[in-house]
Amino acid sequence: MSRQFRAPRGTFDLVPPRGEAVLAVREALSGPVRRAAYGYVETPTFEETELFVRGVGESTDVVTKEMYSFVTRGGDEVTLRPEGTAPVLRAVLEQGLHRGALPVKLWYSASYFRYERPQKGRYRHFSQVGAEVVGSDDPAVDAETIVLAADAYRELGLTGVRLLLNSLGSNESRPAYRAALQDYLRGLDLDAETRQRVELNPMRVLDDKRPEIQAALEKAPVVADFLSAGDHAHHDTVRTLLTDAGIAYVDEPRLVRGLDYYTRTLFEFVHDGLGAQSAVGGGGRYDGLSELIGGPRLPGVGWALGVERTLLAMEAEGLPLPGVPHVDVYAVPLGDRAARRLFRVVTELRRGGVAADISTGGRGLKGAMKAADRSGAAYAVVVGERDLAAGLAQVKNLTTGDQVAVPLDALVADLHVRVLATVDA
Ligand code: AMP
Repeated sequence: MSRQFRAPRGTFDLVPPRGEAVLAVREALSGPVRRAAYGYVETPTFEETELFVRGVGESTDVVTKEMYSFVTRGGDEVTLRPEGTAPVLRAVLEQGLHRGALPVKLWYSASYFRYERPQKGRYRHFSQVGAEVVGSDDPAVDAETIVLAADAYRELGLTGVRLLLNSLGSNESRPAYRAALQDYLRGLDLDAETRQRVELNPMRVLDDKRPEIQAALEKAPVVADFLSAGDHAHHDTVRTLLTDAGIAYVDEPRLVRGLDYYTRTLFEFVHDGLGAQSAVGGGGRYDGLSELIGGPRLPGVGWALGVERTLLAMEAEGLPLPGVPHVDVYAVPLGDRAARRLFRVVTELRRGGVAADISTGGRGLKGAMKAADRSGAAYAVVVGERDLAAGLAQVKNLTTGDQVAVPLDALVADLHVRVLATVDA
């Protein structure tokens, strides 16, 4: 006998009802941007490896340890996308969207791949809903994207999402901070790997979760002391607009994120119910990214919200799984002739927008009625041989238990009216 297969480590199957819940979360996370005139964008699942090396940053964990990279049969080096911003910006540049009206506002919903150590909330294949605004350095677009993400969490009923906010400074002011941080870090007693990181990407050391490192970092210089007047003005406007929109935030002067391209505004949404992987989403401004991937100077800002972690946060808050589907009508034919007749009825109902299901396989009344109850339908329609002969169907209200006989010829119209009445009630 051949062995049974399992999904690869760090991946999972989505089956009902969780599959529906994930669909509903994706829908809800993209609701606010769709109402804000962002257009939908889709890019390939894999890209040239070099795009991520340059766009995400050569010294980031994502690039050095986590990419699914391979050489194709034709000899091309490609990588399953570990994130969405670099590919979307590549598409903007390639399609020339930046030569049209600015800013370009886009949203997307897709799968991403990172070879991480799997644990709760951290997978090797996961999904994000993302948004990017390209071609504007107005702080209002930073604030807009943040408000839209915060609104998405709120619309899902989440109350425990906190927004952490920082500014990393512009490409002009960041080098001075980087140098000062590097000076400070070189004076610490660090292991070889961390010392190497100090030279390559000192800001990433701030993200080191080890308590002894965190303690050693307490006196490290903070980026706020190195911001230019322009950076401060930008950041103050973002904060004012967030406050005006009723969005609470916490200033987090040591917040950095795992990708290299951020400038100025940086933010993360965290939730305390998730354990170690507390980030449910995050993003920031990336004014230098376009040039890094061969484009013109083109500022931008955006975010990615983790779909699975958002669902975990909802479960942590005890919110019901969203989107669990139900039908309005469940048809129960007793006998072949009734099955043929009800097949037609159910088809007509569905075509007319009424969600309907039908018992198949010649199941008996008792089993079929159980299935009707489980389906969540408001009405069961039972038709047996005697009903057929009389031209009738028995329509049972599954909530009240009331049953009426309805002429078969009028059944579809009758059910439409009943279902509409239930929806309106
Ligand atoms: P990032 O692209 O790293 O900024 O991630 C944005 C969001 O995607 C995070 O806040 C998480 O919610 C989610 N995310 C990132 N990596 C993973 C992963 N390995 N598994 C599940 N979700 C992830």
